[in-house]
Amino acid sequence: MKPFDILDPLMPTPERPILLRDLKNYLTFLKDYGYSDIPLQSGSILEPGSDKSNLSRPSTETTRQHTMAKPRTSAKPNLTLEEVREELRDCTRCNLHSTRKTIVFGSGNPHADLVFVGEGPGADEDEQGFPFVGRAGKKLTEIIEKGMKLNRERDTYICNIVKCRPPENRDPKADEVAACNPFLIKQLQAIRPKAIVALGKPSASTLLGRTVPIMKERGTWHEYAGIPLMLTLHPAYLLRAYTLENRRNVMDDMNKVLAKLRE
Ligand code: URA
Repeated sequence: MKPFDILDPLMPTPERPILLRDLKNYLTFLKDYGYSDIPLQSGSILEPGSDKSNLSRPSTETTRQHTMAKPRTSAKPNLTLEEVREELRDCTRCNLHSTRKTIVFGSGNPHADLVFVGEGPGADEDEQGFPFVGRAGKKLTEIIEKGMKLNRERDTYICNIVKCRPPENRDPKADEVAACNPFLIKQLQAIRPKAIVALGKPSASTLLGRTVPIMKERGTWHEYAGIPLMLTLHPAYLLRAYTLENRRNVMDDMNKVLAKLRE
């Protein structure tokens, strides 16, 4: 559920206090990321019937089925991943385009039950055009294949909150995240997985629209547009702080994901 649903005149009154709290959290998140105004574009959250409205109305029914909420209006059907990639084209929507080598859109099975969302491409990804192919990527592959006994390409889809490498591997800025967010939303709409895993704080914070204390909230279930969302540590963090406790925690989180996929 997106905070701007509060502006819906059909929203039942008891839900308003919860949405007001969400809105406050979202605005605090934007402020933390350096925003002084709200990043709206045409076709954005406030436009009824825009395809973002698909993402903003989870219901009990859709949560149970782990599917995207259906639009209430005659919104366009979801795009396919290929169509989303075409729409992105040779993107120049934010400054990252000027320093990137390659757009790193995502990789894996377009019909996967499980999607991992990372932060943004690093040097190796920028070079090769695929997400998580460097050191952190090898760790992620190990978690998926050795830990979860899944096949990375067949069973998962992997993408990032920004599709272009932030210079010097800095965190993506708020305007960069905002420019890329419509494409992440459309990717998730196209795939409609049974579960999403946010890798690290920037990913968790972007998907939940608030600043997430990842060490505190990892291992907990949330919801993104009616889809169960697990928060866990970023594999790059795991490599930096390679303690038994962190490794166990990540595997505990992934076991919860496996259990959810089996439901
Ligand atoms: N870290 C990320 O968050 N994403 C990648 O694609 C690679 C490293």
